[in-house]
Amino acid sequence: MAFNIKELISEADRCVACGLCLPHCPTYRKTGSEADSPRGRIQLMRAVAQDILPNNDRFKEHIDLCLNCRSCETACPNNVNYGALVDTTRALFIPKKSVWLTLAKPFIRHRYLTYSLSWGIWLAQKFKLNSLMQQVIPVAKLIPNIEKPTSWKPLYLASSDASASNKKGAVSLFLGCTTSALDSQTLSASIYVLNKLGFDVHIPAQQTCCGGIARQMGDAEEAAKLVDLNAASFDESMPILTTASGCGTGLNDYLPQHKVQDISAFLMACDWTNVQIKSLAERIYVQDPCSLRNGQKTHQTVYQLLKKIPNADIQALPGNSQCCGGAGAYMLTQNDMANSLREDKIAIIKANNVVILATSNIGCSLQIASGLREQHLNVSVLHPIQIIARQMGLA
Ligand code: SF4
Ligand code: SF4
Repeated sequence: MAFNIKELISEADRCVACGLCLPHCPTYRKTGSEADSPRGRIQLMRAVAQDILPNNDRFKEHIDLCLNCRSCETACPNNVNYGALVDTTRALFIPKKSVWLTLAKPFIRHRYLTYSLSWGIWLAQKFKLNSLMQQVIPVAKLIPNIEKPTSWKPLYLASSDASASNKKGAVSLFLGCTTSALDSQTLSASIYVLNKLGFDVHIPAQQTCCGGIARQMGDAEEAAKLVDLNAASFDESMPILTTASGCGTGLNDYLPQHKVQDISAFLMACDWTNVQIKSLAERIYVQDPCSLRNGQKTHQTVYQLLKKIPNADIQALPGNSQCCGGAGAYMLTQNDMANSLREDKIAIIKANNVVILATSNIGCSLQIASGLREQHLNVSVLHPIQIIARQMGLA
């Protein structure tokens, strides 16, 4: 959801400056500056929108430092729509003209380019060119070891895994640009579980990125184009299931006519009678992505889903209310703050001797896994659907 300038000012006016959101804001906790708090940012956004303050570099720095984690919204007694305020401010006052975004745009928009990119990454990893790749493109250090790229079929029928009488319906699967490039295992696991539960899985070929990264960079025009492409690709009669909660939250906000759902929430409403799940005597810690916890507010369904695994001990990762610093492109554009937040998460993982960490967002997974690799910590960071699919028999 985005506002026009008048709506922005009137939404900002709804903030009564009570300050209840301040202790929930990770950037305020780190810098201690009112201008890096939700209350301070709302005052700044309103003042710039009313031409009381200039739209200068200092203003941009404070808005850019916001993770849009929406933790502040959960504490706000007046339900101020902070997420829409910051999205609108970025689009109206802070459009980015970065070379990085211009180069990344076609790869984000066109699936065949995302697919070619994953082949390039896979081949570079296969021929042990990782360190060369990281010297040329420093952000490559965030890239995990990936599986051989998959060319997705338009339809995966449940009939191979479920009897005709057991057929429950059909769904569409949202691939996501980053997930399809770097985490095909999560998508394969989703198809496997959905087919086993009796659902045909449609993968519309023309689907594209959710638009979240473009929106974050203040490129409202590109974000709107991506939303339109997705709106035209998906059949409105079927639920669209997302495996990355960041994409799901954006699609929910900007494609309200479609039934967009996080895969764990969808699965928890399904019939699991007669589904065989092997036991796993392990402790699994769950990291709550901000987009699932504060955006979609369905993070509890991840715990409920994993609790279906006999003997598994499912625990919330302490400190779950603080963002890991991934936050879409934030981990690339705000290195210092992103690293500081990541260090907090890694310290908690170490202190709790975590062996398996479940997270439902590719951004969190990349951010946390890169910190673990840097410290040579052997922790499996997996999407919950991968864990449940393995226990249901996926090799
Ligand atoms: S969205 Fe997150 S980082 Fe931004 S003001 Fe709210 S709590 Fe702070
Ligand atoms: S909690 Fe809500 S009303 Fe209070 S300062 Fe924060 S944004 Fe404003």
